[in-house]
Amino acid sequence: MRFVTFRRADGRTQPGVVEGDAVRPIATPTLLDYIALAPHERIAWHAADELLPLASVTLEAPLRPSRNVFCVGRNYLEHAKEGARALGRELKLPDVPTFFTKAPSAIAGPDATLHLQAEISPEYDFEAELAVVIGARCKNVSEADAMHVIFGYTALNDVTARDVQRAHVQWFKGKSLDDTAPLGPWIVSADEIGDPQALAIGFRLNGVQKQHSSTGNMIFHIPRLIAELSRGMTLEPGDVIATGTPEGVGFARTPPEFLRDGDVMEVEIEKIGVLRNRVAIG
Ligand code: MG
Repeated sequence: MRFVTFRRADGRTQPGVVEGDAVRPIATPTLLDYIALAPHERIAWHAADELLPLASVTLEAPLRPSRNVFCVGRNYLEHAKEGARALGRELKLPDVPTFFTKAPSAIAGPDATLHLQAEISPEYDFEAELAVVIGARCKNVSEADAMHVIFGYTALNDVTARDVQRAHVQWFKGKSLDDTAPLGPWIVSADEIGDPQALAIGFRLNGVQKQHSSTGNMIFHIPRLIAELSRGMTLEPGDVIATGTPEGVGFARTPPEFLRDGDVMEVEIEKIGVLRNRVAIG
């Protein structure tokens, strides 16, 4: 199933399930409320009698988590290599995943124009990522049990102000500016994805392919990420984990390529679809 948050013509926003080219509303106030239900309770909240054409609604980010988006740095070897090369550093791979976070205020919807602030940074960059949505409160999850706590998957573009990222010891600030976490277009349920480490993942800038890899190339696979993150720390339904980006990002190119006003970014992930956003820098 594909879960969305949509806005009707009258401005009301609510969650729903996509059925073909239509959307069936869900009766919970938000998709976050729906995900927090026990799995056997969820289906009762699908409103049976209403089906709206997808073309008649506007999709928003499928959810806004109640706390920061968890992210993983340097989780594809070729991206770790290109980053070390661009910064003139020796490549050192960590034994455990590098976690950082993005503020939920950075989240933007599919097809939304991202308003990036020219006076804050001249170095906005893109990062195509598979995002995991947690479906159950959990702690100390073993790798063997990790897939059972996943509600579904979506796409995230980890837009980054590179100079701000470098200026701070922690990456939080350079990764949390407004409109730098476009998410969507929907959350695809875990059963429909099957193996999340066998998905083609790519990024196009103005139609030109810049990133192309497979989620199988992650250094730390999703069960390991969930096991590490949940060690001694409770995960909540609706928590989002962005699993890192493959090679091909702008700052590591020769010469570096940063986002420009009017650019169109597309993150495409197999079995999920395309997350498209236009950039407005001013
Ligand atoms: Mg990233």
